[in-house]
Amino acid sequence: MEMKIDGQTQLYGIFGNPVEHSLSPALHNAVFKRLGMNAVYMAFKVAPESLGLAFEGMRALGIRGVNITIPFKEDVLNFLDEIPEDLDRLTGAVNTAVLKDGQLLGYNTDGLGFLNALREDLSVSPSGKDILLLGSGGSARGVLFAMAHAGADRIFLYNRTHSRAHGLAEYAAQYFPQTEIVAVSSPSEIPAKKLDLVVNATPCGMRGNHELPMEWGLIKEPAAAYDLVYTPKETPWLKEAKKLGVPCANGMGMLLEQAAISFGLWTGKKEGVREAMREAVAACKL
Ligand code: NDP
Repeated sequence: MEMKIDGQTQLYGIFGNPVEHSLSPALHNAVFKRLGMNAVYMAFKVAPESLGLAFEGMRALGIRGVNITIPFKEDVLNFLDEIPEDLDRLTGAVNTAVLKDGQLLGYNTDGLGFLNALREDLSVSPSGKDILLLGSGGSARGVLFAMAHAGADRIFLYNRTHSRAHGLAEYAAQYFPQTEIVAVSSPSEIPAKKLDLVVNATPCGMRGNHELPMEWGLIKEPAAAYDLVYTPKETPWLKEAKKLGVPCANGMGMLLEQAAISFGLWTGKKEGVREAMREAVAACKL
């Protein structure tokens, strides 16, 4: 069915910076088309000083829902009326906003999206595992809280800015006494003999950024690796992991899973959503 825009078209979108390379518009518009919904999803590059204005605009124009991406997942909290879910409130990072009865509600679908993708792509559950998480930004928060909530045994946090990892580990540890959550300033501090999982939640390796989040030689015998980055399909870090024989996956699965959950929050629809998104991804040249 052809997409038509008329006086009743509903608007959705994503606020981020940069946002030009986001696949979210392709995913959500593919589902609107497949389900015959009169709606469109746009990418909005928002200057950091204009984030508040962007949310005022969302209210004023009746934009039904937006995703929030790099680097706004924490700042967005200043502009929401409510975060309905306890875990999302604790996480302190939001990637989905819903405008409902004039109220802006915030959700974090990254955490559950990540867990779903980890299960689908690597057959891994964090329960009882020793995990190294690279990064301490907005998506790392979602991933950290989801893994702790899912019963990880130990989570080691490593970040370029150590104080940020330290603050996040101390904050998260108070809510998950069953999980040891510690920030390490060097991989040599990790007491685990081997790691069950290593997760990259930094933009290192994203198109145009050739840095590695951490040299593989520094990481202790990893059993699996997940990279949140999905453009390119295989980052230099994942290429190395493959060479070492480490089972690994890129962030495409998480992108699909978190997007499908956001779509459900906005529209109440679940049927056919993942399938349409998968087809849209297959049609994209990455
Ligand atoms: P943020 O800006 O909130 O955080 C970025 C984190 O990465 C910080 O911890 C930062 O460290 C670290 N970092 C940034 N640049 C470097 C570098 N050159 N070397 C080492 N560390 C660095 O971003 P997000 O957490 O929102 O996003 C991180 C990545 O995850 C992005 O690439 C994003 O596209 C991807 N992502 C993928 C998703 C998916 O569905 N697959 C979902 C969400 C995110 P510091 O504190 O020192 O600044």
